[in-house]
Amino acid sequence: MSVNLQTPIDYLKGVGPNRADLLRSELGIQTYQDLINLFPNRYIDRTKYYKINELQRNNAEVQIIGVITGFREVAQKRGKRLVADFKDDTGMMELVWFRGQKWIRESLKIGQPYLIFGKTNWFSGKYSMPHPEIELQSEHDGNLRSAMQAIYPSTEKLSNKGVTNKVVTKIMQQLFLETKGRFVETLSDSIKGELKLISKSDALFNVHFPKTIELLAKAQFRLKFEELFYIQLQLILKNLIHKSKIKGFPFNKVGDYFNTFYKDHLPFELTNAQKRVLKEIRQDLGSNAQMNRLLQGDVGSGKTIVAFMSILMGLDNGFQCCLLAPTAILSVQHYNGLKELCKPLDISISLLMGSSKTSERKIIHENLENGNLQILVGTHALLEDKVKFKNLGLAIIDEQHRFGVAQRSKLWHKNTSPPHVLVMTATPIPRTLAMSVYGDLDISVIDELPAGRKPIKTVHRFDNNRLKVFKFMKDEIALGRQIYIVYPLIQENEKMDYKDLMDGYESVSREFPMPEYQISIVHGKMKPADKEYEMQRFVKGETNIMVATTVIEVGVNVPNASVMIIESAERFGLSQLHQLRGRVGRGAEQSYCILMTSHKLSQNSKTRLETMVRSSDGFEIAEVDLKLRGPGDIMGTQQSGVLNLKIADIIKDKDILQEARYYAKSVLKLDPSLVLPEHKEILETYRQMSKYRNIWNYIS
Ligand code: ADP
Ligand code: MG
Repeated sequence: MSVNLQTPIDYLKGVGPNRADLLRSELGIQTYQDLINLFPNRYIDRTKYYKINELQRNNAEVQIIGVITGFREVAQKRGKRLVADFKDDTGMMELVWFRGQKWIRESLKIGQPYLIFGKTNWFSGKYSMPHPEIELQSEHDGNLRSAMQAIYPSTEKLSNKGVTNKVVTKIMQQLFLETKGRFVETLSDSIKGELKLISKSDALFNVHFPKTIELLAKAQFRLKFEELFYIQLQLILKNLIHKSKIKGFPFNKVGDYFNTFYKDHLPFELTNAQKRVLKEIRQDLGSNAQMNRLLQGDVGSGKTIVAFMSILMGLDNGFQCCLLAPTAILSVQHYNGLKELCKPLDISISLLMGSSKTSERKIIHENLENGNLQILVGTHALLEDKVKFKNLGLAIIDEQHRFGVAQRSKLWHKNTSPPHVLVMTATPIPRTLAMSVYGDLDISVIDELPAGRKPIKTVHRFDNNRLKVFKFMKDEIALGRQIYIVYPLIQENEKMDYKDLMDGYESVSREFPMPEYQISIVHGKMKPADKEYEMQRFVKGETNIMVATTVIEVGVNVPNASVMIIESAERFGLSQLHQLRGRVGRGAEQSYCILMTSHKLSQNSKTRLETMVRSSDGFEIAEVDLKLRGPGDIMGTQQSGVLNLKIADIIKDKDILQEARYYAKSVLKLDPSLVLPEHKEILETYRQMSKYRNIWNYIS
């Protein structure tokens, strides 16, 4: 009979109520199952035994066999420490205890061979080892042998209460004894065969008690693969179920709007990437399923035209469409841009924002409901319940990261049946992360910039070079170009940040006096109308310089602006820097981005600045960002499983992730309901995983 792995951990021999409470509260271990999935953080090579004369002054963790020749108590500032002289046939060292001295003194015997393990210190001409792990050599020889010793995650409380790594290892051994180390297989024979994976039981044994380094590597690979495989399987299944259950409005025909625009009014040749993405969208819209697609494209890659042409597909099939943007500025900009494109086609379009007047709103509401209005552009105001469409067929969301999932779902309730949804983001998400976080969305990528764009030259300058920067600005203005100067603004530091902004504005005003120069200033404390006025002055080319906080981060399009100066650049995150830089380089002229900082820079800031200077590839920058910050800070990850990974690491194990996704796809392609006998392990694991909401809650 096999042991039920859902048994509470209290029942495991050697655990008992106190340790069980500690394991629960400190490590979240409730059951046998949880314990077996407590994967080691790292391993120590315990095949090597050191001699005392081989020790080096590097604080390494070592194991040594020797005997205790005597004990001493040494007085110190507070209390005393217990010191044992320890010797082997090559030399002497000291073992030191600051706590638990009485017990140690009584339990250790002089003259018996012991194995000690721990970190060595070099202090006043001698090696010492504080609080060594220590056991009789005879006992050590009788233990489960493994080449590498697992070091488990721990907490201060656990070690203070005596639940040391040694104790956890003992408990783990007990678990393997009780279960005989036999665990139900969770992957199919064919996957194991193709990837030469070791069995589940072998993997679990070797991840805890590696027999060899090679077997440890195999065990880790197998468990990481499995973890990522089931996450992918779940995401892809969700997507498949969504597609089969939720009927979308089929946009069957390509009609006059689209064709006329394509033939007569397209302002430029589409890039191949734009064409490809349009084809992908067209396919979704023409199928019977509801589209749920993420469109990624670096700043300036031309997402707007793709959005507009998707809207035309909707209009051609008699549906209304809407475009949602995160800020008023961006909504206005989209509205103005789309209105131009709509003009020759005689399409009706309106703008709705929080600040829209009641009278305007009334007209919009009416025309939305009677179907006279074809396109609605706006901010969150568009999500309010009183905004009702006659037949909303497609909703496009720009800059996805500002909208939560809950808001996205609000769109669904604007209709009897949910509209197609296209989410556009300019914050490139590393492909690997996108796969895990948005694995349930379909993804399109515009990975090509329109031809003729000159790469933006990016430099890093220290504050004391400001005069040279001013000179450079004057030269550019003389050439007729415009310049952004951006200051950081974060809530916690708002007062100081506004002061910096105002000081900066003053010094720029002194250096660039009126009437020769005109300067706009835009920040969050201004009234929306004033902000808009200043913005428009810059857009129209009436001002040479725009001094601003990050309000201009998203979307603003002024092709004549050729210089982006970012003040205190060390305080911005990488994706923000990249977004800001994307405000320039939109015209035919050579553009520049100047990152200004003080001399005091952390290692992390240096890496960010160097990355910006070196690369203009949003995906590469996103990868570095992910490495620097970890997935926890990246938008969207909170809702996904990537943060709860137990053994895989989406950054380090991205190759395994690719492989796992490939296999999950192939399995589901062959057998979408997992009914084939060869997939019985997969089906069973998937079922259990859904039950326990986590794959690691299920093994047996
Ligand atoms: P983003 O992807 O950042 O939203 P936009 O859609 O605003 O980019 O496009 C950036 C600029 O590039 C706009 O001025 C747009 O008119 C122009 N553009 C877009 N696609 C092309 C193309 N295929 N050829 C030339 N210019 C293009
Ligand atoms: Mg855009």
